[in-house]
Amino acid sequence: MAEKKLPFSKEQIEKIIETHPTPFHIYDEKAIRENARNFLNAFSWNEGFKEYFAIKAAPNPYLMKILREEGFGIDCSSIAELELAKRVGMRGEEIILTSNDTPAYEFQLASDLGAIINLDDISHIAFLEKHVGLPDTISMRYNPGDLKQGNLIIGHPEDAKYGFTHEQIIEGYKILKSKAVKHFGIHTMVASNELDPDYFIETAEILFKLIIEVSEKTGVKIEFANLGGGIGIPYKPEQKPVNLEYVSAGIQKLYQKMIVGNGLAPLKLLFESGRAITGPYGYLVTKVRHIKKTYKQFAGMDACMVNLMRPAMYGAYHHITVLGKENEALTEKYDVTGSLCENNDKFAIDRMLPKVETDDIMVIHDAGAHGHAMGFNYNGKLKSAELLLRENGEIVPIRRAETVEDYFATLDFDGLKDFSV
Ligand SMILES: *Cc1c(COP(=O)(O)O)cnc(C)c1O
Repeated sequence: MAEKKLPFSKEQIEKIIETHPTPFHIYDEKAIRENARNFLNAFSWNEGFKEYFAIKAAPNPYLMKILREEGFGIDCSSIAELELAKRVGMRGEEIILTSNDTPAYEFQLASDLGAIINLDDISHIAFLEKHVGLPDTISMRYNPGDLKQGNLIIGHPEDAKYGFTHEQIIEGYKILKSKAVKHFGIHTMVASNELDPDYFIETAEILFKLIIEVSEKTGVKIEFANLGGGIGIPYKPEQKPVNLEYVSAGIQKLYQKMIVGNGLAPLKLLFESGRAITGPYGYLVTKVRHIKKTYKQFAGMDACMVNLMRPAMYGAYHHITVLGKENEALTEKYDVTGSLCENNDKFAIDRMLPKVETDDIMVIHDAGAHGHAMGFNYNGKLKSAELLLRENGEIVPIRRAETVEDYFATLDFDGLKDFSV
């Protein structure tokens, strides 16, 4: 099997560990920037093209500051994510709120920041109007139902909780137009971690069709089409990344025919990609604590599913490199485990690796999206630090590790003294 490349050497990591003990996440700034530029370049034909980083993938203000400098916006879906955008200094159309089951206070903060609001349901039009007032610009999320096959993680669109039906969205534009909303957008997202490039071209086609229909039936001219996220990454060494040039060329062809051809240009294209932006450029670095041999062979790590949930949650594959043993034969079979009292707390099951020992350093690949972010504190486990590997090789801590005091921060031990039992 092909080995995945690392942006650092064993010596470098050993040096980092002297001041930043394992486990930690480390992000590769250079690769994130290059990837961001490639993404924007691929769609440079589309005037006004913008990618809004789905911040849930890696909600760190340092990463957001880097991406913002590269020209990215931010896609939020909670009050904390909006607040993060605010604290990074983002305002107005740099921010999209694509939420669901949204509370009024989220709409309020989005409105205060001048963010683009992307509604998830027809009932939210009246809700937003009542609690916050309708802004000049509104987008709505389309659920194409049985028009489109979903993929494994999101499931069939008809079963998904997201978005307006076809009928509802047409009605939505009529209502918003009657209420003097001035600028309109449309959004859909029906896949997650999808590697088939044609999938995104088909999604654009569905949206373009709807844009034509909305124009005919309501007279509304839609100004931006948000293709959502869902661009997959090659977790397995033999997989290939989505070819964005191919996706872009396919969409451009449809744009010429359907949008330009029907007098509906200009239409700005937007994405809310998360995984594909930082996923491959973040690594979980963890040391072997114990080797255990029972009915199977276990490598017990100092990281656990708190640091990376995807293998436990989805059975997802994450490639593992044992530092310094890249060229050794894969002679041993291990379950690579954490210390949580849950048997699914495993980074890999029956993984062939070189023979490993206590204190060996493992690097778990593709942990840069939905990695640190997804962790919880179950079993009193604490979340690890995040480090940034800068282009000049410097290491910047961008989030400290949690302490036991953080874990207790929501408890009142002073009050406990007066609590008689
Ligand atoms: C999760 C999510 C995204 C990003 O998905 P990725 O798979 O990380 O690209 C974008 N938009 C919405 C509404 C989401 O929920």
